[in-house]
Amino acid sequence: RAKILGRARYELFNSNMYANALAKLQLETDLRRAIERSELRVYYQPIVSLTSGFILGFEALLRWEHPERGLLSPADFIPIAEETGLIFSIGKWVLNEACSQMQTWRTSYPSNSLNKISVNLSLKQFYQPDLIEQIGQILESTGLNADSLALDITESVIVENGDHVITALSELREMGVQLSIDDFGTGYSSLGRLYNFPISLLKIDRSFISSINTKSRDLEIVEILVTLAHKLGVDVLAEGIETKEQLVLLRKLNCEYGQGHFFSVPLNSSAAEALIKANPQW
Ligand code: C2E
Ligand code: MG
Ligand code: MG
Repeated sequence: RAKILGRARYELFNSNMYANALAKLQLETDLRRAIERSELRVYYQPIVSLTSGFILGFEALLRWEHPERGLLSPADFIPIAEETGLIFSIGKWVLNEACSQMQTWRTSYPSNSLNKISVNLSLKQFYQPDLIEQIGQILESTGLNADSLALDITESVIVENGDHVITALSELREMGVQLSIDDFGTGYSSLGRLYNFPISLLKIDRSFISSINTKSRDLEIVEILVTLAHKLGVDVLAEGIETKEQLVLLRKLNCEYGQGHFFSVPLNSSAAEALIKANPQW
């Protein structure tokens, strides 16, 4: 009896593994064609200055308009892109798209305070020997100023000891490109390491922001993170602001920038442009 059960379980496990592998392979095949078929889209979420209340830039967030599965989020396909190395071409495409879009908006709406585009970079992208050259070329061909480009890196990039990562980060800073630590508070970077990195912005993770108005402990954590950043001479951005109450608290804490559904969800480029035209003040 046990033997039969054991065997049945073994086969079930096996067929699940098979189905998973097949689904993954399908996704990879589709993703390989996604760029050529122009199925990738960059969405834009406004970055708001909490001091002036105006939009001063956008974060570029990748989406995939899959012909059968609809609009896919990065979580659905970035891991596969990283595993297969497709992240190299996808990452380059996002950088080019986002920089060229921002430069177009800057020239079309010169009186707005727009001067920042933030683009997410995978740790994997730092393994490309020509990353710096790529970014330099994109800035040159789009005409965007280096200091208008901010790269979002996670604490995993900081923790990574590789010389090539440290060299790449310093070269980017020398070019004038800004570096931001994304999802700050959720990773494992030591303060000593942070102190030694040429960072210009800390982005406090949404998980702390979402409960600052309900849990005094989280409000205290955010207060400590803001103080820490300011001691390091670095500005702070709060991710995932969803309510007016959260915004009021963050302003009291002297947090410089904010993003979140309270201001706007990520928008396609024409909806983002309509928002730029309206030039709202929060
Ligand atoms: P992230 O860089 O931390 O981006 C913020 C995420 O929070 C976005 O999810 C955004 O849609 C979401 N968000 C913003 N405001 C709110 C809010 O008020 N409430 C809630 N519930 N969510 C909010 P998204 O677009 O699904 O992206 C997830 C992650 O995927 C990003 O996190 C980033 O790490 C990664 N990612 C996005 N685009 C790219 C890309 O082009 N390249 C790479 N390597 N990673 C990317
Ligand atoms: Mg980000
Ligand atoms: Mg984040």
